[in-house]
Amino acid sequence: MSSASITNALTIDVEDYFQVSAFSPFIPRDQWDNYECRVEKNVDCLLEMLEEHRTKATFFTLGWIAERYPQLIDRIVNSGHELASHGYGHERASDLSEVAFYADILRAKQILEDRSGSEILGYRAPSFSIGKNNMWAFDCLEKAGYQYSSSIYPIKHDHYGMPDAPRFSHQVCSGLIELPVTTARLFNRNWPASGGGYFRLLPYDFSHWLMKQVNLRDQQPVIFYLHPWEIDFEQPKVLGINLKAKFRHYINLHKTENRLRRLLKDFRWGRMDEIFLNANKKDN
Ligand SMILES: [Zn+2]
Repeated sequence: MSSASITNALTIDVEDYFQVSAFSPFIPRDQWDNYECRVEKNVDCLLEMLEEHRTKATFFTLGWIAERYPQLIDRIVNSGHELASHGYGHERASDLSEVAFYADILRAKQILEDRSGSEILGYRAPSFSIGKNNMWAFDCLEKAGYQYSSSIYPIKHDHYGMPDAPRFSHQVCSGLIELPVTTARLFNRNWPASGGGYFRLLPYDFSHWLMKQVNLRDQQPVIFYLHPWEIDFEQPKVLGINLKAKFRHYINLHKTENRLRRLLKDFRWGRMDEIFLNANKKDN
């Protein structure tokens, strides 16, 4: 398989700028309704870009967003994209008990299924919050009827990460696979190569090179992720946050849209379910 024939997975975590985990110490959840919501406009902009490039993607969406913007869900689904779950209210799996986590993933799944009329197969934990201390989360996901998770980031990071996890698709329960977001293996360690803050921080050519390594050397699809607020450089600034959170959130927001356009041109992209679940079926 040549790298040109590999279809990579493009994933969007549908949440707004005031819901990110780094801001949670500064913005209580019960204040969310007081913030100006910009997710609808930003997702619409992404949908337009994807349409221009005839590309389909997977949208890991919060139940909280789906309840408030049901028509946005319709637009995602009617444009041919995969709707998947990012939980209900962006609570880290690692902060919840098993019972509370199960309730959260089930609630989100039901809201998304009721609106879209289709089965929700995929889940991504907020802030990649599944790791070696809460592997029970996979049993909950299987029990709730999910078929895949994309919740592990095999890197070292202060907020998340499981550096010794397998880097690619692997079975975690009899009915569930984990699809970790992409890392590139260099100098005996895993480097983040899948979007988010690193895509804004690193020069585009370097991100591009890392992803190419995964297609060429590992012969594996990249799983790339982005948030709608990352293309919105005019978003209201959240006040009172610490310097690190500020740097990570606001760095190079004005460059993301162009970089994403280049990425859409330079690689071939598709939906998680079509890349990973259909391929699995063919193998069986
Ligand atoms: Zn998130």
